[in-house]
Amino acid sequence: MRIILLGAPGSGKGTVAEDLRSAYGFPKISTGDLLRAAVRERTPLGLKAEAQMGKGGLVDDATVLALLGERLAREDCRDGYTLDGFPRNIAQAESLEALGAPGPEVVFDLQVGEDVILRRLTNRRTCPSCEAIYHVINKPPKKDDVCDVCGTALVQRADDRPEVIAERLKTHREKTEPLIARYAAKGTLHRIDGGLTPAAIFAEVKKILDAVMGEIGSSRGRG
Ligand code: ADP
Ligand code: ZN
Repeated sequence: MRIILLGAPGSGKGTVAEDLRSAYGFPKISTGDLLRAAVRERTPLGLKAEAQMGKGGLVDDATVLALLGERLAREDCRDGYTLDGFPRNIAQAESLEALGAPGPEVVFDLQVGEDVILRRLTNRRTCPSCEAIYHVINKPPKKDDVCDVCGTALVQRADDRPEVIAERLKTHREKTEPLIARYAAKGTLHRIDGGLTPAAIFAEVKKILDAVMGEIGSSRGRG
């Protein structure tokens, strides 16, 4: 099962990916997390990516694919995974299709208005160590400014500043939104109201996934 999460920055992809991991065991593969780790480690790929990320544009496809390919080759991805932040343009979608298995593909588009996104991102705080996500009002850490999971001091991501957020939303509209039509045409797209609570969003996602899994199960049973 390959689950793809579409949706603007701040639409809640990371939260759904986490929920999917705890409910089904599919690893969460976030190209944003992979890129930030490469930047922190000062690897050659990370150094190349850093400038683009700071401006709110896309990192070049070759760099992202190199990181992703390495991650997907690991054992835990064999039976399925959730992609958070990939593909982000048509060329990336084509590269992913060329990779083939593990099928079937299920795509969720988390739909949220830009006003809500702006509010969410400016109030977001992130753990630079384990990538846990907080919101200063809706989901504050138990202890001020410290990660509940690992105790690291929380930060505001460099690209969560208002100027960069505007650029990220523009990149999303221009490069990533065209993917919605592509997956709708393939029949793998499911639209989800990203303005609901995290629990309600996941209930929707789960209903759809369980239905897809049921179909696979029954077609195997027949065959
Ligand atoms: P968000 O979805 O909130 O923008 P991410 O953590 O997914 O945050 O991505 C942060 C940045 O990393 C993006 O603005 C972009 O520069 C880069 N990035 C992440 N995924 C990709 C990708 N698939 N292709 C190109 N650049 C990417
Ligand atoms: Zn942490």
